[in-house]
Amino acid sequence: MARRISIFGSTGSIGQQTIDLIERKAAEFNVVAISGGGNIDLLAAQAKILNPQYVITAFSEKNDELIARCSDLDVTCLAGREALLAAAMEPVDWAMSAIVGFAGLEVSLRLATHGTTLALANKESLVCGGSLLTDTCLEHGTVLLPVDSEHSAIFQTLNGEKRSEIDRVIITASGGPFRSWTREAMENVTPAQAANHPKWSMGQRISIDSATLFNKALEVIEAKEFFNFSPSQIEVIIHPQSIIHSMLGFVDQAVLAHLGVPDMRGAIGYALYYPDRKPLPVAPLDLAMLGRLDFEAPDEVKFPALRLAREVMEEGGLAGAVLNGAKEASMDAFLDGDAKFLDMADFVERALQDPAWSKFGDAQQIDAIIAADTWSRNYVRTLTEAER
Ligand code: NAD
Ligand code: MG
Repeated sequence: MARRISIFGSTGSIGQQTIDLIERKAAEFNVVAISGGGNIDLLAAQAKILNPQYVITAFSEKNDELIARCSDLDVTCLAGREALLAAAMEPVDWAMSAIVGFAGLEVSLRLATHGTTLALANKESLVCGGSLLTDTCLEHGTVLLPVDSEHSAIFQTLNGEKRSEIDRVIITASGGPFRSWTREAMENVTPAQAANHPKWSMGQRISIDSATLFNKALEVIEAKEFFNFSPSQIEVIIHPQSIIHSMLGFVDQAVLAHLGVPDMRGAIGYALYYPDRKPLPVAPLDLAMLGRLDFEAPDEVKFPALRLAREVMEEGGLAGAVLNGAKEASMDAFLDGDAKFLDMADFVERALQDPAWSKFGDAQQIDAIIAADTWSRNYVRTLTEAER
């Protein structure tokens, strides 16, 4: 029996790599829904290959274009946010949540109700709505699998180990393109420079997050939410080659590491075939060729994002949603030329320090999370307007 699957964010970097794996074993999968944003050419091309029941663009103004491009296909075209959320309610055996940013949270929450398997690339879901999402999965018997390479590595090294014997988790970070730059040199960095990741090929926004280390900040919070680690158990180490994807340290001081070439199809494929392992189109690891692996401590003065992540974990509640919303709005401003590279961490810190967001209430309520997200975006917009 073919497995019924959906891919939300199918036109993105993770979405396309998921489809690459699906296409190789097309007979094993029955695609229910794929969703994208503004890239209708790619979305229609994917619909042609995968023959899904539903193809959705999140942007309602793209409705006519999508219908025109899919006119020769036997698919139902849908457009807009409500249609996207409705499509996420279609039952499937396996779903990929790979929309970028806060827009992915409500999709993840719906996918978590199917009682099957949810492969989670959208780390913002856990950063903003951690316990809401994990509780929804528990309530419905949904297996939540990490797709972020670090979390997939932790998940795989945890296999068969006793949680009580884990001492710490060591999350690796490439350090991004500005690892060896001075803070002064980073002042006039352009979006193109920031999006040019040295090791991983990813979407524009996560690449810029990697340059500020906000991606690692999100991942630290994601690890706490996913695995229920205490903040003091989570360490970050800079490892420029990105060969070790993360490590677990045990009470006997043994450390288990997960290694592989930097190729997201490894983590996506693990989540696709879990609990089995299947051959994947990933290059073998050649350690002799590599010769060496390097490590260094992160510089939290140059990259304040990691310090902010720790503060957010200590604070709990809606702090994750505020960090993420302020970070997304700061990046919008950076991309529009209204903020400088180093402003991004500064704006996030100022949003977190403002007491106003604590009034939104309970992080278990989606309305409170949305209110905190909206507030933090508006807060950053006010800051960028004041600077202009
Ligand atoms: P991307 O920018 O390449 O793709 C994002 C997808 O989301 C696209 O399909 C786009 O059309 C869709 N989208 C954008 N805005 C939307 C909106 N408002 N509503 C609905 N859909 C929207 O992003 P990506 O790099 O594939 O990352 C996707 C998620 O996976 C992110 O949360 C990212 O942090 C995470 N992730 C990515 C990688 C990677 O290697 N790319 C690795 C680990 C985790
Ligand atoms: Mg990652």
